[in-house]
Amino acid sequence: MNSFQLRESFLEFFEKKGHKIVPSSSLIPSDPSVLFTTAGMQQFKPYYLGEESSFGPNVASCQKCVRTSDVEEVGDERHLTFFEMLGNFSFGGYFKEEAIKMAYEFIAEELKLEIEYVTVFSPEKVEKGDWRKSVAEDEESYKIWEKIGIPKNKIKKEGIDNFWGPTGEEGPCGPTTEIYINGIEVWNIVFNEYFCDKEKKLKKLEKPGVDTGMGLERLARSLQKKETIFETDLFEPVIKELNNLSGEISAGEKRIISDHIKTAVFLISEGIFPSNVERGYVLRRILRRTIIYRKRFDLPNNFLVPLAKKVIEIYEKVYPEIKSKETDILVVIQKEEEKFEEALTSGLNEATLVISKGDVGGEDAFRLYQSYGFPLELIEEEAKKSGRKVDRQGFYECQKKHQEISRAGSEGKFGGVGKEANYQSAKLHTATHLLHAALRKVLGDHVKQMGSDITPERLRFDFSHPLKMTKEEIEKVEELVNQEIKEDLEVEKREMKYEEAIESGALAFFKEKYPEKVSVYSAGNFSKEICAGPHVKRTSELGTFKITKEESSSAGVRRIRATLS
Ligand code: ATP
Ligand code: MG
Repeated sequence: MNSFQLRESFLEFFEKKGHKIVPSSSLIPSDPSVLFTTAGMQQFKPYYLGEESSFGPNVASCQKCVRTSDVEEVGDERHLTFFEMLGNFSFGGYFKEEAIKMAYEFIAEELKLEIEYVTVFSPEKVEKGDWRKSVAEDEESYKIWEKIGIPKNKIKKEGIDNFWGPTGEEGPCGPTTEIYINGIEVWNIVFNEYFCDKEKKLKKLEKPGVDTGMGLERLARSLQKKETIFETDLFEPVIKELNNLSGEISAGEKRIISDHIKTAVFLISEGIFPSNVERGYVLRRILRRTIIYRKRFDLPNNFLVPLAKKVIEIYEKVYPEIKSKETDILVVIQKEEEKFEEALTSGLNEATLVISKGDVGGEDAFRLYQSYGFPLELIEEEAKKSGRKVDRQGFYECQKKHQEISRAGSEGKFGGVGKEANYQSAKLHTATHLLHAALRKVLGDHVKQMGSDITPERLRFDFSHPLKMTKEEIEKVEELVNQEIKEDLEVEKREMKYEEAIESGALAFFKEKYPEKVSVYSAGNFSKEICAGPHVKRTSELGTFKITKEESSSAGVRRIRATLS
């Protein structure tokens, strides 16, 4: 059975069992506290907390996931940074018996796979002193497995690895049961059985829930009888292409490259572009981690492009959006490759020189980062090869100092110029917020502030966007800003906790370290941002807004200059 059929058969199986099939949500989660979607249950989280599910109590999905925390694991037989998670979920519908029986039926009867063993939670296996030591044994799951016919020696009791949550200080949590096939965990079934309060006291939930996750790649490995996930049809075409490009790459590196290019393709397809912050930084980092192999294995220039094409071929039927964005995806990858190659040529010599002198100090690491775009991890990797260390702490201190200096610089620009200039600056600040909101309305939510600079004459705004803006788009943005100026919106300032601000939907300049309490400026319902100000009182004070220039700032980042008159 190929992976396409496998995906279908899972969803059909659960549809027949009364589940509503819900499409994968975006890799960019609506929950702003996490960078990426890492599990199928994420989009259903509110339903476990009591909100009514619009899909009914039982759902199933195949969810795109990215786990950056597993990046160091990639290369073993079962870990990836991008994978698809098959899952069935119930919010107060069914519980342990049905969930376990359905899982068994799907694995053993539908797919005819042999379960090697299963695990259930037991406090016996929890270390003394851990609060989970006092949680009750999951006898119910044990008995259900026994009743199904799994022999006792194949039902293993495990400790905290078989207990999930709570994710914060308090929240739902409960025991899990896992299915193992050919030596690896394939399916994890979580029972949201309790509510755990801040004192770690458990109360049975009135409406318990079921949350399951099964890696499609791991399941395909079992079904297609492969040693690792990289030999399944979800990877094979990419690995084959790599073999065509170079005969020198080791198996381990082939796995890393094929995993990373896949993650890159999916991230770019969701409007994420290489940058030095947040998701863009993750993307840049994984792309650069592969590009660095080019010289070592004598790969051709732009070798990532044919690999990305293979990835798109594998998934176009399931995720048509990656096919429709193919050109964008390939351009972004090629640009990043070229940009990094250039920096590498000059930077690698410099890095080798620094490393040859001994451990790398924070300032040197920051200089390599600033001038050549070497991510810190890459400097560390290079240093490790010669047995050298990098001063991480020192690097961060330099970075912080640098930020402070540039901030002081922009504040100082208005020093001594007098009141008029300060008022002009406030107007341009407010205009910047309106521009940011308008860009997101016209171009999409992938638009993020990457930088901003204000002089008495003009504002400059850098933002993530892969393409040159069209004349029409520029006009639309101008129009929208001017319209909001005419609306004479009140610019309101409110102080609140940072978390509260983010929750309320305020935009933040990420990677900026904010204090616990922040100021949020909003202009009507149009714009809301965390900002230190200053701003004007009403938008009508701004006059007429005009975009004077739109140009590229760096790969995936555009720069706008605008004036008020
Ligand atoms: P492991 O211990 O093997 O890392 P996990 O406990 O992190 O797995 P869960 O968080 O329970 O896994 O995720 C549910 C399922 O998703 C797993 O049973 C597995 O099939 C799959 N999965 C998890 N992480 C990865 C990954 N990095 N690559 C591929 N599949 C994964
Ligand atoms: Mg894991």
